[in-house]
Amino acid sequence: MLELTARSKCETARMPITLDPHLRRALAERIRFYNELGIYDFYRPETNPLQAAPELQPEAPEEKTLRAKTVVVAPPMEEDLFAAPKPESGVKDPAKALRIVREDLGDCTRCRLHKQGRKQIVFGVGNPRAELMFIGEAPGADEDEQGEPFVGRAGQLLNNMIKAMGLQRRDVYIANIIKCRPPGNRTPERDECETCSPFLMRQIAVIQPKVIVALGAVAAKTLLAINAPMAELRGHWYDFRGTKLAVTYHPAFLLRDPRQKKEAWKDLQMVMKELGLPSHVRSAE
Ligand code: URA
Repeated sequence: MLELTARSKCETARMPITLDPHLRRALAERIRFYNELGIYDFYRPETNPLQAAPELQPEAPEEKTLRAKTVVVAPPMEEDLFAAPKPESGVKDPAKALRIVREDLGDCTRCRLHKQGRKQIVFGVGNPRAELMFIGEAPGADEDEQGEPFVGRAGQLLNNMIKAMGLQRRDVYIANIIKCRPPGNRTPERDECETCSPFLMRQIAVIQPKVIVALGAVAAKTLLAINAPMAELRGHWYDFRGTKLAVTYHPAFLLRDPRQKKEAWKDLQMVMKELGLPSHVRSAE
């Protein structure tokens, strides 16, 4: 019996009942094929801002893997020519420069999150000279408690993903789009991301990683300023202000749907290849 996901069932339910039975069977077959490959999201592209980019049009997953080298240019940095130089500019030692950015952030009250129950600011952790930087969404309860990103269950899985790449957590740098825990772990609001992310941009500018991995849709959409489903965002290289950026599933999502780990592993292998890391057969458990 054909197993359709909730979403594809819903799509099927919207199909006209007069749909030709052969076409219906063919569509069901195609959905099953995609499901078996770990793809469950189907969408209508009419509001898709990536429509103009033919390389991002939906395609068979095996083609997508082969075309992983596609580069899509993210919006250039909006430089304010009249802005005062950042306090860290000219500081050669990235560890020192990061400390300056942290001091500048201070006991931040720039957005509403400072009065909505955050215990502490979660700045970022790892190697200030990291070649690889992971960017998640926002601190959760464990991170808020410990002041470090990705220390809860999702963090354990991220650690395993990093190990599967042949690296240690201390080799990479880990941060989030926003630095304070949203109440009840809700998705960050747009204005919170806009207020907080300039500090992340300064961290990126200091660290100058070779590759950034955006973990999940919030990180990807905020960094790339595009609105597209994860299935479309993954599997490509983006040029993020001169740094290569890849998108993969958020570890919290992988905990909920472990079948997608093999897809995330493909993304990480693409990153490993770019960084010249030896490929492993092991996937993140
Ligand atoms: N999820 C995130 O996006 N970031 C964390 O730091 C922890 C969980």
